[in-house]
Formats: sequence, structure tokens, C-alpha cells
Amino acid sequence: MVKVKDFIQRFEQFAPRYLAEQGDPVGMQIGSTQQTIHRVLVTLDVRPEVVKEAIAKKVDFIFTHHPVVFHPAKNLVTDDPQNAMYAELLRHHIAVYAAHTNLDSANGGMNDWLAEQLQLQNIQVLQPSYRRRIKKLATYVPEANAAAMRQALAAAGAGQLGDYSAASFSYAGTGRFTPDNGAQPFIGQVGRAEAVAETKVEVVFPEDLTNPVLAAMFSTHPYEEPAYDLFTLDNATGEQFGIGRVGEPSKTMTIRQFAEFTRTVFAVNGLRLVTHNPDDLVKRVAVIGGDGGKFYPAVLQQQANVFVTGDVYYHTAHDMLAAGLSAVDPGHHIESIVKTKAIPLFEQWAQALAWTDVTFMASTLSTDPFTFISSTND
Ligand SMILES: [Zn+2]
Repeated sequence: MVKVKDFIQRFEQFAPRYLAEQGDPVGMQIGSTQQTIHRVLVTLDVRPEVVKEAIAKKVDFIFTHHPVVFHPAKNLVTDDPQNAMYAELLRHHIAVYAAHTNLDSANGGMNDWLAEQLQLQNIQVLQPSYRRRIKKLATYVPEANAAAMRQALAAAGAGQLGDYSAASFSYAGTGRFTPDNGAQPFIGQVGRAEAVAETKVEVVFPEDLTNPVLAAMFSTHPYEEPAYDLFTLDNATGEQFGIGRVGEPSKTMTIRQFAEFTRTVFAVNGLRLVTHNPDDLVKRVAVIGGDGGKFYPAVLQQQANVFVTGDVYYHTAHDMLAAGLSAVDPGHHIESIVKTKAIPLFEQWAQALAWTDVTFMASTLSTDPFTFISSTND
């Protein structure tokens, strides 16, 4: 039985919630984390038509990129379409979880998907935000308890090194202690010096797993007062997270050709091109899904001459032109790539973690609010 909380635990190793921009309401939004899940719908937006689809498909959990509860509800009067939608979700026991700007920054997340779709090469983070540090824990257990300790630490996520899991190092030694009055020792007696054959077990893990790893250590350790060392490693550089991606185009293209190429790879009917120099060659491309216009100074700093993002504002477009930057705005809805890219990832986790009886499906609806009307002479 897989519960919403199991999914969240795995997902947030990939896209930790602390990567989200301040005030972005990511995480659990509707329903209970204790709910068992069987049928999961992946969508860009939760709109009334998507809720209808979820009900028809007997879905019990919706994974959405855009938070459904974006503005706090002032009341729960269901005459309001937004509130009516929340009520429908609750009535049908459909839980909703949102991964927004944390999914944007995650490695292998939204902005990597968009950069891959644009066939960029040498993809790098556009604006680094956070580097996850690596911690090391060493604990000393009686020899007979070492295997159980290694297992518990691995189960909490420690010892993940690249493509290897459950990595640890152990060595034998002698632990010495004298239980004082009031102690209830697992080994030995009050007032008598003890020497115990112990094993020192060492593991490394990303810093955000500190609490679960320590909890696993404490619950598995047989001693009343477990001895342990916990420190941050200075030599190991942890995973770098950040906003947007930047890379080089896979073939020689002018800016106008690249705009057409972008239209094709995202299968949009139209897009907006902001440029003074459509015949210049594309040198370096930055991409930010959604509304990324405000990050254009970072794009200039990274020496990209083309910026792909949605929802570009009129005045920001002027600023970009003045700075010599070209922009391609294919709209915000290109983030619906989440539907095709997240599912294989979730299926991979389901297989690795032996999640049985869970099916992931993409919403088949377009939630793009915009359509293009083109000139009949085109
Ligand atoms: Zn978005």
C-alpha cells in the first residue's frame, strides 16, 4: 500500500521543498498525506475540467506543477468556482500535491526538461541558488548490532554515492565506559568498568537527510547514551541547484530560425519573438519555464544572446532589446512537458521502491488559456 506521504518522501529527495521561492505554496494542498494511492494524475494546472477528468478516471491523487491553492481562500462558499473545485476534490477524496519552483530548480526537473527539448548542449545552471552540503555520521555500536545499524542508516537514505547505495565503512575497536548510578546499561553493571568489542559505522548523506538519518541511528542503537560524531565535509561538493538553464544550440541557427525551431519542438501554434537582430546567429541560449523575464540580467551575465521564457512583459521586452538580448516567448503552457517527463521518473521510483498497484497517467487536457488568431493572409 503506497500512501501519499511515501510518494512525497521520495519526490522531495529529488526536488526538496526548500528549493522553492519564498512564498511559493508548494507541497501538500488538498486531502491527507495518509491516503493510499492507486491512480495518479499528472497535470500542469488543476482547473475544473481537470478535476472532472480526475473523477472520471477514478484518480485518488493529483500531482500538479502549478499550485491549485495559489491564493488563500477567504471563505469556502462553493458559489465561487475555485471553492467549488476544492469541494469536488475533497468530496471525491482526491489529494493534491504541488511541486512548483522546487521542481523548476531540481536537477533533472522542469528547466532541464525544457533545455533538453530545445536540444541544448553543455547544459548548466543559469543562476545557482543552493549547494547541498554533505554530512558524515560515525557511530559506535556493539559488533552484533553493526549490521542492523548499517541497514537502518541506508534505509533512511544514507550512503547514496552516485550510482551506489548503502555505502558505509566499518572498523572494529574497543569501547570503554563505566555505568554510573542511575544508568540502565545495555551491557555491563553500575560501577564496573567495561570494555566492549564495538564497530564504528560511518556513512555520508546530503545535509537535508540529517533528521531522518539521526532518527534511524537513535532508534536502532542499543545503548542508553549512543556515542556518535556528526560533521560537515569540506572536501565533498554537494549537488548544486539553481534557477534556469543555459547551453549551446545543437546546430547553427539564426535567431529567427531558432524561434521557428522552438515553436516546433514545443508544438505551439504561435510565439512572440523579441529581437532587433533576427539574422544574427544563436550563440548561447538560456531557458526558464513559466514567467522568467525578471531573470534577464542573469542571462546577460551568462553571455547568452537568446532567452526562452514565457509571459514576457512589454517593458521587460524593451529592456532586453536595449541590452542586446533576444527573447523567444513560446508561452507559459510549454511547462505541460511535466506530463510526459515526470511520469517515466515516477514509474522508475515505483519500480525501485516496489510500489505496487500505482498507475501514473497524464492529463489529456490542454490548460492553455490562450489561442492564436492569425491574419488570413498568412
Ligand atoms: Zn509555471
